[in-house]
Amino acid sequence: MKKNILFVASECTPFVKTGGLADVIGALPGALNQADSVDTRVILPLYQSIYPHWYDQMRKVASFDVLVGWRKQPTTLYQFTFKQVMYYFIENDYYFARDDVYGYDDDGERFVYFSEAVIASLPYLEFQPDILHAHDWQAALTVLFNKVYPDTLKMKSVLTIHNLKYQGIMLRDSFHDLFHLNEEHISGIEWHGLLNCLKAGIFHADKVTTVSPTYAEEIKTPYYGEGLHACIQEKGNDLVGILNGIDVKSYHPKTDRAIRFHYQFSSSRKSLNKLYIQHKFGLDIDPDKPMYVMVTRFVEQKGLHLIKAILDQFLTEEDVQFVVLGTGDGDFEHYFYQMEQRYKGTMIAYLKFNEKLARQLYAAGDFFVMPSKFEPCGLAQLIALQYNTVPIVRETGGLKDTVTPYNEYDKTGNGFSFTNYNAHDLLAVLRYSLEIYHDQDKWYPLFRNVRKSSFSWERSRDQYMELYNQMLPS
Ligand code: ADP
Repeated sequence: MKKNILFVASECTPFVKTGGLADVIGALPGALNQADSVDTRVILPLYQSIYPHWYDQMRKVASFDVLVGWRKQPTTLYQFTFKQVMYYFIENDYYFARDDVYGYDDDGERFVYFSEAVIASLPYLEFQPDILHAHDWQAALTVLFNKVYPDTLKMKSVLTIHNLKYQGIMLRDSFHDLFHLNEEHISGIEWHGLLNCLKAGIFHADKVTTVSPTYAEEIKTPYYGEGLHACIQEKGNDLVGILNGIDVKSYHPKTDRAIRFHYQFSSSRKSLNKLYIQHKFGLDIDPDKPMYVMVTRFVEQKGLHLIKAILDQFLTEEDVQFVVLGTGDGDFEHYFYQMEQRYKGTMIAYLKFNEKLARQLYAAGDFFVMPSKFEPCGLAQLIALQYNTVPIVRETGGLKDTVTPYNEYDKTGNGFSFTNYNAHDLLAVLRYSLEIYHDQDKWYPLFRNVRKSSFSWERSRDQYMELYNQMLPS
């Protein structure tokens, strides 16, 4: 019998994206639905930024009120099918008609509302989910509500942790102000005298997954566990790591409309994209000059303190170019801006979120640098591999599971990596990558391995299917 799966998430390409979560929610349901045995649908908030491109195509399903503590919030549910996946959108202007997706003082309340609204939408969907699959803290409360509200469908539930760092923490007083739960349920959501949405999801979910096998092990330890390691350890075999994939059709250098010069195998055609970026940003024009690229959120997680510690030295001593695309913490933005001023012709810092430019940089770079402090899966290195750009990573989480360090003797490996979170180890590996770049006999076998690396959704999809089958044997 067909299984019905409802994905609950706060972002999804092509509608709204701030990071890798959106890529996953935009690709995995379509990959799952290719198997006839499941019907996967997705429910999302209707943010202001979604209206201009998509609202005309949506059909109104129902209007109803949702209670958030004493607040009665008018809610409209829409639906819309796109590339064989049915999407539902929850509209409430008070919470979602804002310029940004996150970053507000009342984010906790916004996603309590969203989770309540998802549960309230279930009778209107004309679709009875067997499995509720919630993603990250913004959706985690649906797992709790599904479990404890008396009149819900009591679906089986999966919570996927895309990043344990973000947990949705609120003051304990919010329990009475925002929730409709008996006091007996406080223990499942309370955390060090506060409320923690992600913890509630972990506690109540039948299965918890995270996005790489290595990260699934790491988060059981205090170093990576972000204060939740004990709660995670308690899940035992109900915690699994399933590696993310990427949408290899969308990210394909042969067809990607964002890039200027399409290519598949040829490194000389690829390097036309480097020339294009050099022209575009006033860098020195030289197809042979190695270009190092970063596309990233500017947060500590991404190893930017290591970059700060060594970039000056690297750019002074080596003949390379460095291009960074990113936004986030003001300190990092300021640092990269200053570096661009100091290294004109060599260094570019483009401080925006720009999907088109990101793709152009994946195509242009020789190397993609991602020295993360922790990395649940990481999609950027997978996209880089897809564009035949050699990843340089720290061996953590999904980076460890997807990038194998190049061995110049037996010619195995698809990138470069270092183990300890140490700036000089990063500098050493950057220098080593340069040495390989300038030695054609060593570079070409590496380039060949990179070309062969592919992380489509197929393998991961089968693992999710297996998980659903374990939960609901047919
Ligand atoms: P995370 O989800 O932690 O940000 P991932 O590597 O999993 O990291 O995914 C990041 C995604 O966001 C990639 O698709 C990357 O290309 C994209 N991205 C990050 N920063 C930018 C930016 N400034 N402009 C465009 N895309 C970006």
